Amino acid sequence: MSDKKVRVRFAPSPTGGLHLGGVRTVLFNYLFAKKYKGDFVLRIEDTDQGRYVAGAEDYIMDCLKWCGLIPDESPAAGGHFAPYRQSERKAIYREYAERLVMQGHAYYAFDTTEELERNRREIPNFQYGHAYRDSLRNSLSLTQHQVDQLLDAGEPHVIRIKMPENEHIHFTDMIRGNVSFETGQSDDKVLLKADGMPTYHLAVVVDDYLMKITHAFRGEEWLPSAPVHLLLWEYLGWKANMPQWAHLPLILKPDGHGKLSKRDGARLGFPVYAMNWFDEKTGELTPGFREKGFLPVAFINMLAMLGWNDGTDRELFSLPDLIDKFSIERVNKSGAKFDYEKAKWFNAEWIKLTAIDKLLPDVEELLNENGVQAEKEYIKQVLALVKDRLNFVTSFWKEASYFFEQPKEYDLDAVKPKWTDAKTEFFQSFIVMLNDSDPSIEAAEMETQFKALAEEKGIKAGELMLPFRIMLVGGKFGPHVFDIAVLLGKDGTIKRIHKALEAFNSPS
Ligand code: GLU
Repeated sequence: MSDKKVRVRFAPSPTGGLHLGGVRTVLFNYLFAKKYKGDFVLRIEDTDQGRYVAGAEDYIMDCLKWCGLIPDESPAAGGHFAPYRQSERKAIYREYAERLVMQGHAYYAFDTTEELERNRREIPNFQYGHAYRDSLRNSLSLTQHQVDQLLDAGEPHVIRIKMPENEHIHFTDMIRGNVSFETGQSDDKVLLKADGMPTYHLAVVVDDYLMKITHAFRGEEWLPSAPVHLLLWEYLGWKANMPQWAHLPLILKPDGHGKLSKRDGARLGFPVYAMNWFDEKTGELTPGFREKGFLPVAFINMLAMLGWNDGTDRELFSLPDLIDKFSIERVNKSGAKFDYEKAKWFNAEWIKLTAIDKLLPDVEELLNENGVQAEKEYIKQVLALVKDRLNFVTSFWKEASYFFEQPKEYDLDAVKPKWTDAKTEFFQSFIVMLNDSDPSIEAAEMETQFKALAEEKGIKAGELMLPFRIMLVGGKFGPHVFDIAVLLGKDGTIKRIHKALEAFNSPS
């Protein structure tokens, strides 16, 4: 590593929701920056006005906030290299495009959309590049006089890079090692559009240079653009400052065939976006990990493990642990299959590891939504009992609603076939026993009394446990039954036994 301060950037285009692959890109940039005490920059690449979606920038900011990946510099936070929104930097780019034209590495192209469309229709595999550029309307094929006239007349034009016909170029990718390209395979990409806005290719190079970016992690889908960027760095005379690139492998569908898409999520029933994204145009809501009930720490941990490990079997890492352990050498070259069951496992593990007080606000909100008011202390006790069984904080209601309201239904099929009058008598005696017991009776003591009573009545305690659970819970689930009874309290438990006995003894 050189002694230059590490500066990385996440450079999203605000065109919609944030795919989990996008968050992983942020994460790897962030981890690398923080590992080397560097800066993490958020730059909004909004030069393509046609694809701009209102609200997408705020959404991206919210996602980063939720994940705890806070940029040191951004449109919101500002910074030494502001502005951080490319649309606000429009005036900067033309100078560089013109410089490239002067040097002969780029040229003006006056072709109209109609002309280009006709070419695409009529010429198989048409590319605006070395094969055809001489026969099109540009400053390479026209005379200087013609070009000057067109420019003076304000004729709409773009500036294109002149890709060399036969050059072999290469760079060293931090993940892939040596990557090489034949320049003739790429078309002459537009650098500056007719509206004066730069395209992504020009803007990304100029801004990475001006913002002193030293390393750039981005998705593998940007690899085909690398030759254009490499040449721009070279032509603009900045090659020595070019960031070190790392093209991250794709996140694959669960079956390993192709990139995980938002449609896969819809088809297989899991989120693919970081947070819910609502598309105003189509009215479509794409679900997010946040709303599904993932903890940010689990989401981040799961993403880090999609393509990285620390060289041991360890799987659980908090963000500070990741910063500590992260190393680019341990990022895989090949794509990582997304496994939703594993994602849920991460969440369940992190729920276990998270302090009750931290889970409390989400749980209180959930209770509110279900019209339940309860004492904080009580909720905390319930959480302590059920937390290890939750895949999601949002499943709290499903797993624990019986602590807040009596069961509405009982799993009678699990009780009735083996129900007897003797069992009814047992529970009636148990009510008496509970009534006489100390209000602060503990679970172990209650269990001892329950078992002693069963023995006295000549019934196997094991046969009474399930009915007792169903009386309290409604179904065959939940933590240790005496823990539930203690938490419901003596009166609550007695009430439930009474009510359930009616149901268990009713004719049908
Ligand atoms: N604006 C590009 C995107 O939307 C950034 C690609 C890059 O990081 O170079 O992902």
